[in-house]
Amino acid sequence: MNLLKCLLINNDCYKSGATLKPRGVMVHSTGANNPNIRRYVQPVGGQENYSELISLLGKNTNGNHWNKHIEDPNKRKCVHAFIGKLSDGSIATVQTLPWDMQAWHCAGRCNSTHIAFEICEDSLDDPVYFRAVYKEAVEFTAYLCKLYGLDPLADGVVLCHKEGARRGWASNHSDVENWFPRMGYSMDGFRQDVADLLNDKTVNRPEKEDEDMTGEEIYKKLTEYLLSQKPPAWVAEQGEYAEAVREGITDGSDPTRLTTRYESAIMNLRVLKKARSE
Ligand SMILES: [Zn+2]
Repeated sequence: MNLLKCLLINNDCYKSGATLKPRGVMVHSTGANNPNIRRYVQPVGGQENYSELISLLGKNTNGNHWNKHIEDPNKRKCVHAFIGKLSDGSIATVQTLPWDMQAWHCAGRCNSTHIAFEICEDSLDDPVYFRAVYKEAVEFTAYLCKLYGLDPLADGVVLCHKEGARRGWASNHSDVENWFPRMGYSMDGFRQDVADLLNDKTVNRPEKEDEDMTGEEIYKKLTEYLLSQKPPAWVAEQGEYAEAVREGITDGSDPTRLTTRYESAIMNLRVLKKARSE
């Protein structure tokens, strides 16, 4: 985890400053295609470490970051942290509120119980970016659980926005179920990864995704699996397989392995030759 701090001191939520006794962590994702933290997080002039933070985050030239007053009370929002890209493309977590201050993140009761962070979404189809921010989110959540003595596997402690909505504890948003399942991940897996990390176990699930495996690795794994299988009972009962072996169509080895085109062609040729000779 790469944890930085850039408090959103001009955000209305920071200014209202209600205290929070953290009893859980809520995971959000932004719902917009922009993986750069600077889209949301910027220091303001005069703020502590201004130049250092600007150089790390990069400059938001659109003025749409969250470190400012918002006129419409219904549009005011804030979270405790953002996970996404720094200006050099590396992944980081930037703390934007003190952990013991309430965030305005879910328009429900979890505002007064849960620490909340946003993972900056990209186009939702890059597994490399996803796994990098997922790993960061697991480490960050484990850090918070340790800090506040929270059990990530206990009911209602670590939730995503959508899970909160389902319990009536948060507004009806789909994050992070709009993203995690697309990448083969789930909140159950996330909670387990956080727990495993707290217990010093390896975190990296699913272990290896198809797109990471070479053709050779996929073939090897598939072959291993197929060779571990037994032919169904009817094959032996019917006796045709044994007969085919006796007739010289196949040598009978590895009966559950896939057949290649050349093996299939040779087997057919053997049948043809046999038929011609009879
Ligand atoms: Zn959300």
